[in-house]
Parts: sequence; C-alpha cells; structure tokens
Amino acid sequence: MAKQIVIIGAGLAGTTAARELSEHGQAVTVIDPEAGETCERPPLSKHLFDDSRYHLPYHLESTELITFVRDRATSITLAEAAPGSQQTHPSATAEEQPNDAIVGTVALASGEALDFTHCILATGMRANRSGIPAYPDALPVYDLSEAEWIRDKVAAATSQLNVGVLGSGYLGMEVATSAVAAGHEATVYLRGSEPLRKQLSAPVRQALVEAHQAAGVNFVTGVSSPDEIPAAVHDLFVTSVGARPVRIPIDGEMPSPSDDNDFSAAWEVDATLATAHPGIWAAGDCAHVTDGPFALDHPWACEPVAESHGKHLAELILGEPSAEASSTGNSTRSWSDVPWHWSFQGPEKVFTVGLTSPDADDTIIQYDPSGKKFQVFHFDGGDLSAKLIGVETLNWPPMQAAARRVLGGKDIPTRAHFDDPEFDFKVHSRL
Ligand SMILES: Cc1cc2nc3c(=O)[nH]c(=O)nc-3n(C[C@H](O)[C@H](O)[C@H](O)COP(=O)(O)OP(=O)(O)OC[C@H]3O[C@@H](n4cnc5c(N)ncnc54)[C@H](O)[C@@H]3O)c2cc1C
Repeated sequence: MAKQIVIIGAGLAGTTAARELSEHGQAVTVIDPEAGETCERPPLSKHLFDDSRYHLPYHLESTELITFVRDRATSITLAEAAPGSQQTHPSATAEEQPNDAIVGTVALASGEALDFTHCILATGMRANRSGIPAYPDALPVYDLSEAEWIRDKVAAATSQLNVGVLGSGYLGMEVATSAVAAGHEATVYLRGSEPLRKQLSAPVRQALVEAHQAAGVNFVTGVSSPDEIPAAVHDLFVTSVGARPVRIPIDGEMPSPSDDNDFSAAWEVDATLATAHPGIWAAGDCAHVTDGPFALDHPWACEPVAESHGKHLAELILGEPSAEASSTGNSTRSWSDVPWHWSFQGPEKVFTVGLTSPDADDTIIQYDPSGKKFQVFHFDGGDLSAKLIGVETLNWPPMQAAARRVLGGKDIPTRAHFDDPEFDFKVHSRL
C-alpha cells in the first residue's frame, strides 16, 4: 500500500510540505476549513492602512496530487500497536516508517475520518483575545477576515483615524507604525516600560522606539489592565497580546496552557520534528523544537521557519537526504536550517537570524559609516573563543543576507575575529 499522508493545516508549513511532496509525485491530503484558499499572514499586519496587496493566497503550481478537505480536524486516534505491527518509533527516520502501516486516524468535525500512515500537524497558532471595556469592537489582526474588517473601517473613514493598539510585540508595532506612515495617529499601550522587550536586544529596541516616536507613534507604558485604556479617544482599536498554539487531542490527551504565555500546549518535537507519537510530526507555529541546534523554550513562530519545517518534513517523508545531511553524512536528519525572522515596522526593517536574546548584554555592535544601520552580534559565551550564534540587523538588508550566509556556513567566526580590525564580516560571508 502507498503512503497515506495527511497534513492538518494549510498555512505556510502545511502548504509548503504539500507542495514539496506533490511536486515529487507523492499524493497528499490537506485538511483545513479554508483548504485551497489559505493565504500569507505577514502582509495582514503591514497593509491595513495602505493600498499594497494584503491578500496573498499561497500559490501551488499543480494541485493534481493534493486532495483538499475543507473541514476541521477534531482529534487523532492512534492505531493499536498490535503484535507484529510494523510501526516504528519516529526518532528512527521517516523512511523507516513502513509505507503500509496505518498509524492513526484523524476525526473531522463533519464526522468523517481519514486514516494515515504519516501525519503532519501544521495547525499554527490562534491569537489571544483581550477585551477592552472602552472599545468592545477591538480585535486582533491575525486572520484575513479580521484584517478585512479593519480595512473596511479604514476605507470608510473620511478623516485621519486615531488608532489604539494594545501590545508592543512585532504585530502591535507593525500596526501602529503602518498607521502613522499612512498619515493616521497611533498610540501603543503596553504593560511594561519598553516596547519589543521580549523580542529584541536593548540597542535594537531602543533605536526602533526612537524612530517610531520621531515618526509620531505614542507609547503609554505601565498599563496593567485594559480597563485603564481611556474611552472616546480612538476610532479603531487593535489588540496584539500574543498567540498560542492550536492543538487537537491525540488519543484523548492534550495539555492545556495555564496562561497566555504558556507554550506547553505546543507539540513538542525532537530535532527531526517528530512528536512522541509514531508517524506524527509537527511543523511551523504549533511545533516546539526541544532538541537539536535550534531548540528553544517556545515555538519559533516565524514565517521562514514554518516554510523550512514544511520542506524538511517533505524531504524526510520522501526519504531524500537534505543538502545538509548529504554534505555532512549526518543520518539523524535533524532540522538544521538557520532560523530567521523579519519585521517591517513602517519604514524600519528589523531582522534576526540564529539564536539571539533580548537580555543579552555582552554583544558586539557594528555600525555602517552613516551610523544609521547596525548589527548586533550574539555569542555563545564571553571569552574570545566564543562562537557567533545569532545576529540582529536594523535597516541593513544586505548585511542580514551576509549574517544568514555566515551562520549557515561552516566557518563560524568567534569574538576574536571581531576584535581584529582587519575582520570584514561581509567578506567573511563570501568565503
Ligand atoms: C498578522 C501576522 C503577521 C506576521 N508577520 C510576520 C513577519 O513579518 N515575519 C515573520 O517571520 N513571521 C510573521 N508572522 C508569523 C508567520 O506568519 C507564521 O509563523 C506562519 O504563518 C506560521 O505558519 P503555520 O503554517 O505554522 O501556521 P498558520 O499559517 O497559522 O496556518 C495554520 C493553519 O492550520 C489551520 N488549522 C488550525 N487548526 C486546524 C484544525 N483543527 N483542523 C484543520 N486545520 C486547522 C488554520 O486554519 C490555518 O490555515 C506573522 C503572523 C501574523 C498572524
């Protein structure tokens, strides 16, 4: 019997896996209430106030080998490990998963059920909701429908809008800065004292906040409850207070998060992206990578990682060695693409690559000659032999590309390299 591959979720991770598998001749079934009509999320928070394209459906060259099931997966039941069963543990390799072993069944909201030999969980996250008593219409901007509701309000406005934003992570800052760039007013309310405190190191977040304030964004710090947000000030209110992974029970088990910042509800995966269940992998925002070179204490939750996870799992299931695995002879098939993130906040462009920490204070900073663009280099220790592990880049896209090349290469520089006045990071990236 052939592989029966079921992908739950047709966002970036699921669509990428489906594209790669089908382009290699492998049939797949993709389950999503919007299957066949899903679209990219990043433009939604950046183009609420301008005429740029915000609705970018995922493109598939051919859908001949893809069966779209417009439904919601509600649970997974694992097949019993009967005597003589051919099931294997996924920490072996995907190729060792026998093609003909049905390892489980996905139940759908419609009452239908789909058996699978291989299953990819790619259910993403859903936005946390925060009620604002003074603005009962306030909503997050996470889905196309939310973005369209906001865009309709913007289109109907006859004068400049006063926009309120709760939350100062990437999405909140993108909404506020794009509003100001389009000629509206924007105020960001935050619990703490510093915007982007959990995302970026002090030099980068401070430079960004200065630029945003200069552009006209107002910040109200120390807001301990949405009840404190004053009424009758804002024409439009957007909340951006995080998101949490979407999960469905497997054999009835599903931990529930204790609070909005608790990522225990993500599917924990090993370095190969395998869950603890045979034949089931997780990718993108719903996956928490707990092992391997890019293990974290929360999901990566960024666009390039979701795409990379989708590609990785397609290669794994097809049994084709990744470029990295072939060049190193590494048979563990770990996911090892260097993760990166981008955020465009009005005219400001900020990137991270590799492992960076908002709390790091022993970084090295390099500016361009104008002093307006810079990079912050993060190391795995304080001594001269400490290796570069991550880079933040502000408003300097070619140097972000250089950072990705360096961290994805074999010749990783140390602090000692940066101490050498002759060391040129861009030249090093071309070695
Ligand atoms: C507004 C916004 C802006 C962003 N901007 C950036 C950015 O600038 N840079 C960046 O790096 N990242 C950005 N991101 C993050 C990036 O978009 C995500 O990391 C990426 O979309 C994750 O892809 P995914 O496939 O894991 O999940 P998603 O794209 O969220 O897709 C998950 C899919 O699973 C489906 N699903 C959920 N539950 C079920 C179920 N039970 N049954 C069937 N289907 C189900 C959903 O309908 C959805 O289609 C942004 C995110 C948002 C929301």
